[in-house]
Amino acid sequence: MIDLADTLDQMTAPGQLVEPVPEKDTLRCLACGHRCYLRPGRRGICQVRFNRDGELRAPWGYVAALQADPVEKKPFAHLLPGSIALTFGMLGCDFHCSFCQNWLTSQALRDPMAADSIDYIRKVTPEQIVAYGQRVGARIIASSYNEPLITAEWAVAIFKVAQKAGLRCAFVSNGNATPEALAYLRPYLSAYKVDLKSMQEKRYREMGSVLQHTLDTIQRAHDLGLWVEVVTLVIPGFNDSVDELWEAARFLVSVSPDIPWHVTAFHPDYKMDNVPPTTVKMLQQAAEIGQEAGLRYVYAGNIPGRVGSLEDTHCPACGSRLVTRIGYTIRSNRVTPQGTCPDCGAPIAGIWN
Ligand code: SF4
Repeated sequence: MIDLADTLDQMTAPGQLVEPVPEKDTLRCLACGHRCYLRPGRRGICQVRFNRDGELRAPWGYVAALQADPVEKKPFAHLLPGSIALTFGMLGCDFHCSFCQNWLTSQALRDPMAADSIDYIRKVTPEQIVAYGQRVGARIIASSYNEPLITAEWAVAIFKVAQKAGLRCAFVSNGNATPEALAYLRPYLSAYKVDLKSMQEKRYREMGSVLQHTLDTIQRAHDLGLWVEVVTLVIPGFNDSVDELWEAARFLVSVSPDIPWHVTAFHPDYKMDNVPPTTVKMLQQAAEIGQEAGLRYVYAGNIPGRVGSLEDTHCPACGSRLVTRIGYTIRSNRVTPQGTCPDCGAPIAGIWN
């Protein structure tokens, strides 16, 4: 752990999401909803941002993962379907979810079992990342794999170069944002995917956060004009009650019925390896709740080919099938470049061109 901490501490730059507080050399970090109060020498809850002699240091200059993924894997269903999203991640997280599927990178410095993540670190520049994205034909560049809010300054450095190269930029996040972080990111971001992991405060406490922060981020990101999609990993016995799913769906409708809601299947992982996987029936029920609540675009994910048309996009006006998917593969896309249904002309929310 000491090696990893030393290595990561060297790969930092002055943070911008910070404000001074009256106490000498003490800072408040503004990158995520924890708003850590950092005395000199202290680390934030995420462990990767810290106060060095009165200066906030934030992760910089490396990736721990860099992969050309289908945008459907993020998942985004209404952001340039069929495109490649060059996806980068660093190390660390402000949550500690027991079901995390990226725990080796996200729990670096928080869980000794994740110490091997040091082997993933590669020094790189924003220009190299964007040039690689262009070589692989990416139309999108996304920050994911760890929580991007805690490494927002590095993401913005990459997004500035990406934007000039004509790429769209996206965040794949737990939604524990601050208004300051969203305002900082807004000029560069096109799309924001938020995990809504539960509607129970006690579940968010278990993960180390506060439900309202994530609800506020969904509302704020939408109000800022970002394209927002929301994912709920449906975990048996954790967040799968009918009442809770209804509550999540009603909340999303209250923000906008055009927000795509992905209800996705859990597979045992990390510390939650004794919980059974989500069944097709459970996902279908969750999706029906979303549709009945009034959401226009509901998707069932992580069980490709077994959830019928719940992987596809339909026109909310005439019902025509517009995008046909199996897993991350697009079989056909009939949405017009203007973002309308070719059969009835109704607008289809999203970024299509
Ligand atoms: S990113 Fe969040 S957890 Fe990390 S130091 Fe800042 S406020 Fe604390």
